Amino acid sequence: MSTSAPSVRPVLLVTGGGRGIGAAVARLAAARGHDVLLTYRSDAARAEATAEAARAAGATAHAIQADVADPEGRAQCFAALDARFGRLDALVNNAGITGPTGRLDETPDAVWEEVLRTNVLGLAACSREAIRRLSTRHGGRGGAIVNVSSRASTIGGGGEWVHYAASKGAVDTLTLGLAREVAAEGIRVNAVNPGLIDTELHAAAGLPDRVARMSAGVPMQRGGSAEEVAEAVLWLLSPAASYVNGALLPVGGGR
Ligand code: NDP
Repeated sequence: MSTSAPSVRPVLLVTGGGRGIGAAVARLAAARGHDVLLTYRSDAARAEATAEAARAAGATAHAIQADVADPEGRAQCFAALDARFGRLDALVNNAGITGPTGRLDETPDAVWEEVLRTNVLGLAACSREAIRRLSTRHGGRGGAIVNVSSRASTIGGGGEWVHYAASKGAVDTLTLGLAREVAAEGIRVNAVNPGLIDTELHAAAGLPDRVARMSAGVPMQRGGSAEEVAEAVLWLLSPAASYVNGALLPVGGGR
C-alpha cells in the first residue's frame, strides 16, 4: 500500500481573469496543474466561460465578481478564496485599466484616481492579502506573485496615456521593493512587462485599430498574443524560476 500523501494542486488567484491576458493565464495554469480562482469586474459571462475552460483542463475553478479597486470587492475575493479553496500558492495581479486616452493637460483627476486605484492600490492591497496567506512569517508555505505591468512603464505613454504608464511605473517599483521585503518569507515577486498585446484593452480605450497601427513599430513586426504573455507568467510562477525574484520581464517582441 502506498503511504505517499495525495498530491495537492496549487491554487492560483488571478485578478481580471475573465478575458485577455488574465483569461489566458487562468487557462494555461489549469492545464499546468493549478486550481484557479479568477475574478472579474463586470463581464460575468466571459469570466464563467474562462472558468469552464479551466475546469475542462482538469482544474477546480471558480469565477467571482470582485472589483480590485474596491475594498469590499477585495474582501469578498479573499473570503471566497478561503471558503472555496482554503489555501493559496500564487497570485497574478493582472486586473488593469488604461482609462481614456489623452494628453496630461486633457486628463482630469478622476481618471488618475480610477487608474491608480485599480492598477496600483488594487494590486498592492491584493498582494497584502496574499502575503498574509503565503508568508512563512504568517504560517504559510511560501509562494509566488506575478504582477502584470507594461512596457509603457519605461516608454512613458506620452501623447496617449501618461497616467496609465505612470501607474505601471509604480507597479514596477512596487515589484522591486516587495521582492526584497518578502523573499526571506518564501515568496518570490516578479513582473511581466507586456508590449503591444492583441486584446480588447485597446478597443476599451477607444483605439480599436491600435495593434494593427503600431505593429510596424515592434522589432518583431507584430503584436503579441495573450497566450504568449501567459507563458512568461507561468514560467515565473513555476519551480523553473525558483531563483528569479524581483525581475521585470519584458514580453514585447523587442519593443
Ligand atoms: P482587457 O481589457 O482585455 O482585460 C482586462 C480584464 O481586467 C478584464 O477581464 C476586466 O474585467 C478586468 N478588470 C479591469 N478592471 C478591473 C477591476 N477593477 N477589478 C477586477 N477586474 C478588473 O486587458 P488585457 O488582458 O490586455 O490586460 C490585462 C493586463 O495586462 C492589464 O493590467 C494591462 O494593463 C496589462 N497590459 C496589457 C497590454 C496590452 O497591450 N493588451 C500591454 C501591457 C500591459 P471585466 O471585463 O469584467 O470588466
